[in-house]
Amino acid sequence: MSPLLNFLQQRLWPVAIGAVLAGVLLVLLGPRGVWGLLLLLLAGGVILRTFVPVPRPEPQPVVPSGQEGILTPLVRRVLGQMPMPVMLLDESYRVLFVNAPMRAVVGPEVERKPLSTILRNPEVLAAIEQTAADGEPAVAQFTMAVPIERHYEAYSARVSIIPPVIGLVLHDLTTIRRSEQMRADFVANASHELRTPLAAVSGFIDTLRGHAKDDEQARDNFLEIMSAQAARMSRLIDDLLSLTRIELNEHVPPQGKVEVEGLVREAAAALEPLARAENITIAISARNKPVPVTGERDELMQLFQNLIHNAIKYGREGGHVWIILDRTAEQVSVAIRDDGEGIPAIAVPRLTERFYRVDVKRSRERGGTGLGLAIVKHIVSRHQGRLTIESKQGEGSTFTVLLPAIPAENAPKNPAPAPVTEVL
Ligand code: ADP
Repeated sequence: MSPLLNFLQQRLWPVAIGAVLAGVLLVLLGPRGVWGLLLLLLAGGVILRTFVPVPRPEPQPVVPSGQEGILTPLVRRVLGQMPMPVMLLDESYRVLFVNAPMRAVVGPEVERKPLSTILRNPEVLAAIEQTAADGEPAVAQFTMAVPIERHYEAYSARVSIIPPVIGLVLHDLTTIRRSEQMRADFVANASHELRTPLAAVSGFIDTLRGHAKDDEQARDNFLEIMSAQAARMSRLIDDLLSLTRIELNEHVPPQGKVEVEGLVREAAAALEPLARAENITIAISARNKPVPVTGERDELMQLFQNLIHNAIKYGREGGHVWIILDRTAEQVSVAIRDDGEGIPAIAVPRLTERFYRVDVKRSRERGGTGLGLAIVKHIVSRHQGRLTIESKQGEGSTFTVLLPAIPAENAPKNPAPAPVTEVL
């Protein structure tokens, strides 16, 4: 506020009252009334100017040395440490600054280049133009197709200095989009998996009601198939429920103490009849007596049963399943090896995806749901363990589960192997 205005505000009442009185007096004096009126108008003007606030634009800081003037070392440092991609543009949309995460998105050496040459996306450019014009923040979503597809949300904002600077911040939506996609795929896959046996059962019901009504042999045959399809639906629902339950608890650390060797032997014994039906021999060896692990017994039982069952399902008829237990001071390992067909290298990274199967027909014939290894993955993750898969086509596969051991006082650091093999 100017000193004159200050003075007037402080001294205004005496001045204004004096002016008003003088004006009234001059009006009453007749011929000099014109002067009185002028004096009254003047006093009114002073009062209005002083007391009625006149809206004035916010003073805008002037950047002393051109637009780079804002890029003080402190500003560079703060923006440089932001985890999300940040870019500053001048009023003609040339790049003033990018931090390292933004450089990873738009590439190196982009300073001074026009934005349109480095981020060729009409929605983002439109958002920036709108922000530059009206000063309001704007949002735009875009996808970068190469080198791998990534999805972003771009926020633009204008910093109102002279000349203005425009900030652009990106929010990476790729993980959210992928999980949305996975969820949608999961629902579609689950419905598809259930619909197939359901359609078969409905079809056979219609046939039994219709032309096969009095055909006893066909009826027995169809009932057999319907029972198998109903069992398939039931397995699928059980696996879906298991997966949901395990996923829900994945962030809750397990509480119990589990003796791995006894558990693995129990899991193998339960599957022994299936192995015998395929003429497969299960051999368990413990290189060193495993120490206990912290875990949820039922979940670990499910984990080992799934892996042993797979080794039987995809193993060689008349072949072997070897279960090898070992431990170091830090971890317990259980390797489940078969001498089946093995898995193509390209398929190995995808095995733990829900409903992924190398050979869908074979999996279905063997009663598979495509969820067994997804369940294994989540159980291992809840137990803060690791799952490794090694496979050679034509030779077989080894699935190894590594679980953190409960530290034992006298556990050897690097125990010497002393195989004790037992055949179930
Ligand atoms: P499924 O119910 O089909 O067995 P899983 O999730 O347990 O589902 O396994 C996914 C796929 O991984 C199987 O369909 C099969 O193609 C492959 N697979 C799993 N274990 C083995 C194994 N021991 N040997 C060969 N292939 C295997």
